[in-house]
Amino acid sequence: MLKLDNHLSGRHFLHIPGPSPVPSRVLRSISYQTIDHRGPEFGVFGLQVLEGIKKIFQTKQPVIIYSASGTGSWEGALVNVLNPGDHVLFYETGQFANLWRTLAVRLGLSVEVVGKPDQDTWRWGVDADVIEARLRKDTQHQIKAVCVVHNETSTGVTSNIAAVRKAIDAAKHPALLIVDSVSGLGSAEYRHDDWGVDVTVSGSQKGLMLPPGIGFNALSPRAIEVSKVNKTPKSYWAWDEILESNKTGYWPTTPSTNLMYGLHEAMDMMMTEGLEAIFARHQRLAAACRHAVDAWGLENQSLDQDCYSPVLTCIAVPEGMDADLLRKHALEKFNLSLGTGLGKIKGKAFRIGHLGDCNELSLMAALSGVEMSLGAMGYKPKASGVVAAQEFLK
Ligand code: PLP
Repeated sequence: MLKLDNHLSGRHFLHIPGPSPVPSRVLRSISYQTIDHRGPEFGVFGLQVLEGIKKIFQTKQPVIIYSASGTGSWEGALVNVLNPGDHVLFYETGQFANLWRTLAVRLGLSVEVVGKPDQDTWRWGVDADVIEARLRKDTQHQIKAVCVVHNETSTGVTSNIAAVRKAIDAAKHPALLIVDSVSGLGSAEYRHDDWGVDVTVSGSQKGLMLPPGIGFNALSPRAIEVSKVNKTPKSYWAWDEILESNKTGYWPTTPSTNLMYGLHEAMDMMMTEGLEAIFARHQRLAAACRHAVDAWGLENQSLDQDCYSPVLTCIAVPEGMDADLLRKHALEKFNLSLGTGLGKIKGKAFRIGHLGDCNELSLMAALSGVEMSLGAMGYKPKASGVVAAQEFLK
């Protein structure tokens, strides 16, 4: 166990936008004894997990479960459907779109980046018109895939994926639609089949309320067909062997048995609450958080009101304030972890996660910690964000 020099009493308030707090029920299920992953019990359990996860993605198609973080699952998606040198369109929304694009470059893909014209793309959701216009120009169909991030965790912006599919169809373009919903899945509305997504990439440590360590690729029939003739060298990430083993509830390699116990339990909790209720809870907590931000007189990193994230809120601090000092104070004084500003907004913004196993009072605790930390930084808020959020929630 991690040893710290000092002991902070009370519970730790983990309000980064993932990993999110793991509910006790899930933690307990992870602690069950590991079983033989080739034994008879495992096949039954494996089939249950593989069926259950389809409901979370809202798909009838297979979902690949990797022992990997989200980054591994990014790679898994690209190497199964894209050939070396293929041209791919990435839409820049923030740090995670950039990291994914960098990974694509390292894989030898030809990458083109688009974003919202004449705007700071880190403050807006995906503009589907930009994608449509670019695809219409590509009369030779050189672009093999469009890659977008559903919930940009670095900025707190959730993009309209259905609109991106519409744009691809309107341009009558055959590009595949590959979507990162690492931080959206299980918190923000997500419909893999209805939105016509070819591959959805996700991970365990956010809306699914699990520790890090499991990654996902949800597939479409077309993605599976394309993968069968794909030429990119790969082994661990290859879908074909996994899909074959999964038919009987097994994996070709040793799966993360204990994390899968946790996944089984978390999915049970999610189905009991209901996906629509989960999405509504996240929207409500996010709206309460934004009331607090407005009352403090601070700026939301997202300028795109239609794309405010239900998962997290990214808050720009005033000129002269160091957001990381504020975070340090919140951690040391109140045992509250807030998300750091990433990439080009490091030190200029911080993030409040309100995802997964979060309720009104856990959010209120985080908002109190932020308000007190703002005071400690010498900031005089316009009004109390805590009171504003309470008014909204009561
Ligand atoms: N994509 C998004 C939107 C993320 O938020 C993250 C991690 O926070 C990743 C990808 C990368 O996932 P991981 O850190 O699990 O590799």
